[in-house]
Amino acid sequence: MADTDNTVETKPAVLILLGPPGAGKGTQARMLEERFGLVQLSTGDLLRGAVAAGTPAGLAAKAVMEAGGLVSDEIVLAILRERMAQPDVQAGVILDGFPRTAGQAEALDALLAHSGQKVTAAISLEVDDEAMIARVAGRYTCGTCGEGYHDEFKQPAVAGTCDKCGGTEFKRRADDNAETARARLQAYHAQTAPLIAHYGALGVLEKIDAMGGIEDIASGLGSIVERVSA
Ligand code: AMP
Repeated sequence: MADTDNTVETKPAVLILLGPPGAGKGTQARMLEERFGLVQLSTGDLLRGAVAAGTPAGLAAKAVMEAGGLVSDEIVLAILRERMAQPDVQAGVILDGFPRTAGQAEALDALLAHSGQKVTAAISLEVDDEAMIARVAGRYTCGTCGEGYHDEFKQPAVAGTCDKCGGTEFKRRADDNAETARARLQAYHAQTAPLIAHYGALGVLEKIDAMGGIEDIASGLGSIVERVSA
């Protein structure tokens, strides 16, 4: 008698974090990555990598990013497709900063449909606009491990030394200033916020109040991820 395979094939989770700059998408995505073994996929990080490497895509994206605008769908989709083709994404992904336009959302749906997948959940981090400008303008990270800090809200316990890894080099993003943050916020409301309705119509939208402490938000997000991946 032939063996019966009773295993149920589970598709890797595809989670989207939606929210304006400063909402905490990167911080929360890294925490979810550690807790659930998912892969954080940030198009902002991929683009910054392309800018630093001086690739044609990076050269085309640099000025747009510095002005706080959105890089073209063509460039973003090309780097996203390349990243999604790597084997590690089989663990499931948390998309941080993607999709940001209706065109990107449709392209993602099509890309996933190709392998019989769908968006598992799109989680909207709900925050107050003005607070976001203050958050973004003061933030910086450890140059060694990427731990996040803030001039006003979270300084290292020992000045100049990273709490997590002891590193002493810190860096700030070129676009983390009040003026560019306003442009990014505008781009978010004009082009990305409408995606909340798109995912609502698909029945995969979740909302979370993201004005509280990092640990509280992480715990709320963790419960959502457990529920939608069950
Ligand atoms: P982030 O790190 O997500 O805040 O992104 C930094 C900048 O990279 C944005 O302000 C945009 O200029 C660009 N960027 C990142 N992701 C996208 C995307 N999905 N579509 C268009 N531009 C993007």
